[in-house]
Amino acid sequence: KDKGNSGEAVLGAFMEPVTEALDSTDCAICCEHLSEPSSYGEGHPEAHVAIKLTKCGHQFHKLCLLQMYHSIHKDASVQCPSCKTIYGEKTGICPPGNMHWRICPDLHLPGYENYSTIMVTYSISPGVQGPEHPQPGARYSTRGFPRRGFIPDCDQGRKLLKLLMVAFRRRLMFTIGTSYTTGEPNTVTWNEIHHKTEPVSNHSGHGYPDPNYLDNAVLELAAHGVTEDCLAQ
Ligand code: NAD
Ligand code: ZN
Ligand code: ZN
Repeated sequence: KDKGNSGEAVLGAFMEPVTEALDSTDCAICCEHLSEPSSYGEGHPEAHVAIKLTKCGHQFHKLCLLQMYHSIHKDASVQCPSCKTIYGEKTGICPPGNMHWRICPDLHLPGYENYSTIMVTYSISPGVQGPEHPQPGARYSTRGFPRRGFIPDCDQGRKLLKLLMVAFRRRLMFTIGTSYTTGEPNTVTWNEIHHKTEPVSNHSGHGYPDPNYLDNAVLELAAHGVTEDCLAQ
């Protein structure tokens, strides 16, 4: 299932040789000491090579990082297994669809009574899974679409909207898998970026009031590498 991203080409930009002393801790991927060869590289000429990631400086066997990259969804990004720093641009597998938003001037969310409301609408239709999906060639269903999220039209809410737009463009908003709620396989589900789908009531627990929602959603987006830095570009 190689989608054309060679591990060396992707990772090369994010790792560099260890010039200082090797970490005294073990490689967090294979659990061998960095002075010992990687458990993934028996007999491999590079089995001893240790590298560090450029931003966070965490050290691993080069072969271990490559092995990790190849064992998970391949895009042009990698996440440090020790501290979760994201390198490159993480993309997801959300199938094709649309994201729209509009302001509802007369809708006031509990806890944000003095603000209008931004209503975000996602439309995704059923289709056939591609090579990046769990069951290529099988159909996927789409329950509950169009799905809507409600955000207070305050400064932080508008910033959240912009970040959501980046996440949608990067195919991170939904994924294909088994729904926790319904148990249905091969269906489109939310992907770890929470939305408030109830503007007035709170039957599902995904409603207002929730004074922490805006902060939490920004943190969830950051866990996917979507931060305010992305808005400047
Ligand atoms: P899931 O059950 O696999 O869970 C994935 C994530 O979505 C979890 O983080 C969960 O906390 C969150 N989630 C679950 N129910 C949610 C809800 N009602 N609103 C917002 N977030 C929710 O996710 P799924 O299968 O995508 O969705 C769960 C169920 O919610 C499905 O049955 C779906 O049809 C339904 N739903 C309906 C609408 C609608 O407008 N009719 C909107 C959203 C979700
Ligand atoms: Zn290792
Ligand atoms: Zn790190």
